[in-house]
Amino acid sequence: MKKDLKVDYNIEKEEQKKISATAVGNSQLGDIVEPLLAWYDTHARVLPWREHPAPYRVWVSEIMLQQTRVEAVKPYFERFMTALPTIRDLAEAPEDVILKLWEGLGYYNRARNLKKAAGVIMSDYGGHVPETYEELLKLPGIGSYTAGAISSIAFGYPVPAVDGNVLRVLSRVLESHEDILKQSVKKHFEELLRETMPKERTSAFTQGMIEIGAIVCVPNGKPKCEECPLESLCLAKRHGLLDSIPYKAPKKPRKIEEKTVLLICSSKKAAIRKRPDQGLLASLYEFPNTDHYLTADEVREYLEKEMAALGCRVYPSQSNFIYFDTGKDPAWIQEQLMEKGIRIGAFEMSRVSVGTMEECKLYIKALKEILEAAE
Ligand code: SF4
Repeated sequence: MKKDLKVDYNIEKEEQKKISATAVGNSQLGDIVEPLLAWYDTHARVLPWREHPAPYRVWVSEIMLQQTRVEAVKPYFERFMTALPTIRDLAEAPEDVILKLWEGLGYYNRARNLKKAAGVIMSDYGGHVPETYEELLKLPGIGSYTAGAISSIAFGYPVPAVDGNVLRVLSRVLESHEDILKQSVKKHFEELLRETMPKERTSAFTQGMIEIGAIVCVPNGKPKCEECPLESLCLAKRHGLLDSIPYKAPKKPRKIEEKTVLLICSSKKAAIRKRPDQGLLASLYEFPNTDHYLTADEVREYLEKEMAALGCRVYPSQSNFIYFDTGKDPAWIQEQLMEKGIRIGAFEMSRVSVGTMEECKLYIKALKEILEAAE
């Protein structure tokens, strides 16, 4: 139920802050619908998943777009749809095939959950993506944003989809000083949008909100307010608060783990091992590594013990292994290397190629770049 509350823009700033997004939002938000839809009609980007917004395509695209740029997703999406054009294909494909199609996109649990959810859709929903927000939420890998996006874009239900883009736009339009990383704030914005969304054109509304956040009220850099259809309604713009909104509480300091990563090379091969089935980068391959920094002697001891367990002997010499510490999670390093196109046998054992001196040099050069970029 919308509240009929008028906002006096002349009151002091501190007083304005006390007016929560609830009060302002309910009175203001209905006004965004018309300009938003008109703008989307003329400014929406042409994207492969928008051309045929079938539920399966919308679902896969939304999962790929999580934490990933649109331009990076495009070729992956096309390739995925060509290889696995139906939900049945996805459900029946071996996990290795799906991971290979996903290779380089990162956050591999997304791909595993897609396969799991496809299995559930085949067994429980007759091979059809469920339509409602509530049913979609039951599928592996689908949270409130993705459920809202699929339901509103593919099926026309007036349910909101609030991602980082939408949080940014709404917090500015409403001049909300709340921490947008809080779940309670996201929930509140979802409620506001649920009251605001038109019953028709739900797909354009959802995509329009996301699109403004992606290309006008941009995540990094200055918002392009002069191009924004919501400019006349935007309170943060009106009050010169674009630097402080959206507000994010400072992050806790990063936890640094001490590790020693072993690059154990023979003339043609390097040792890798599979990570546990659960947790970070589950089931992927990595260089052997240990907790804490080890000295050269400790590394030798470690290797002797590990190799003895495999029935092998180690001939300790400085030249048959390289050890170093990076202060970073080795799994993260591995993912960064893969994104740089350095394949270290994560999925194709037959292509393990780190091992020649040239390849080791390439590896170490890339590693340096990654660590410098992470500073
Ligand atoms: S007017 Fe500017 S700050 Fe406000 S939503 Fe539009 S782009 Fe963002």
